[in-house]
Amino acid sequence: MSLLSVDQARERILSHFEPVETETLPLTNCIHRVLAADISAADDLPLFDNSSMDGFALRAADTSNAAPASRVTLRVVADIPAGSAPKVSLAPGEAARIMTGAQMPTGADAVVPVEDTDFDTRAPGTPAPATVTLEKPVNAGDNVRPRGMDARAGHNVLEKGNLLKPQDIGLLAMLGFAEVEVYRRPRVALLSSGDELLEAGAPLESGKIRDSNSYMLAALIESAGAQVLRLGIARDTRASVQGLIEQAVSLDADLILSSAGVSVGAFDYVKDVVESNGSLNFWRVNMRPGKPLAFGEYKNIPFIGLPGNPVSAFVGFEVFVRDALRRLGGIPDGGRQNVRVRCEEEIRSDGRESYLRAVLREKEGLYFARLTGHQGSGNLLSLVQADALLIIPAGVKCVPAGQELNAWLL
Ligand code: AMP
Ligand code: MG
Repeated sequence: MSLLSVDQARERILSHFEPVETETLPLTNCIHRVLAADISAADDLPLFDNSSMDGFALRAADTSNAAPASRVTLRVVADIPAGSAPKVSLAPGEAARIMTGAQMPTGADAVVPVEDTDFDTRAPGTPAPATVTLEKPVNAGDNVRPRGMDARAGHNVLEKGNLLKPQDIGLLAMLGFAEVEVYRRPRVALLSSGDELLEAGAPLESGKIRDSNSYMLAALIESAGAQVLRLGIARDTRASVQGLIEQAVSLDADLILSSAGVSVGAFDYVKDVVESNGSLNFWRVNMRPGKPLAFGEYKNIPFIGLPGNPVSAFVGFEVFVRDALRRLGGIPDGGRQNVRVRCEEEIRSDGRESYLRAVLREKEGLYFARLTGHQGSGNLLSLVQADALLIIPAGVKCVPAGQELNAWLL
């Protein structure tokens, strides 16, 4: 077993992953999906010059001398509700009643809001007045949203690799995209292994524990945008392990992820099974928790074996699997929420790159960190109570109080 740094192990794993193929989906199914191509605006936005107020479209020059003592009255020659194409062209001395979002008539270059005129009524059904009177000038461009002021046709507005957010979906609709090309969701076949494991809802039996990993890992997989194929619990027999791994193949998984059973204990069959149809490396990664990590392939499907202890499995997922799933899913590398924190207490480490559970407190824009009690790798509650994973670099054995470290927000 070789001793690898965390970065070396991560690079080795990542080099085996490439984005899955793409699919075209209706826009209504695209939330949190990953764009597979840049999106350039097909149209200008706004699509046409339009009014940003309920008021009167007019020619600003007609109002330049308006004042309380010399009021200006314009003839109202049209009524333009939103959604209609204006049929008039305004001549000097003319105005058109116009609603918010309605297209500006030619000849007009500004809108005066109703509340700045003598016709301040907006009750539904009120017909347009014959004239409208103003007491102050209107500037050209006032209350007009010109065509193309937000986006220009031909310009990129969203990038390949973007995770689509609700506002992106709105913009795509605004630009007329009813379908979008996105990456297919990567499929992750997930299994637990161990004779001690029971489903979360099963009655307890002596000597048994509940399979927490598969629930937690399934949630992590989904949080990374991938689809979980839950294979359940492999018993500590060759047949059981082989049966589940073969299911992963028949489900056409992009990754097989297991927890536990990859130590070299007497009942650990994962190694044998994977090697029977592929290859498996055991790496000792210079990290804590989660030193043992298995990586290989079974019938050309990448396989990652995480440690069995729940906190180790979680950290292993965050350090190695999440980035692999991003790669598979077409999301650019990076994107983790990294913060600088100041340690409130002295922290001892053993020289391995350590991911410690910490509670953060914010004071005047700075984060202060304390550990969440004992850091045993079976102590999942202390991970639940943590706000962040505090990263002690490799080679450091003591972090004095007051020193700054990097942390990943949870
Ligand atoms: P192993 O890698 O099989 O030696 O397991 C290491 C530790 O993790 C043992 O204490 C196991 O009971 C525990 N463990 C293994 N799998 C799970 C699981 N799915 N959920 C919770 N704990 C587990
Ligand atoms: Mg076991």
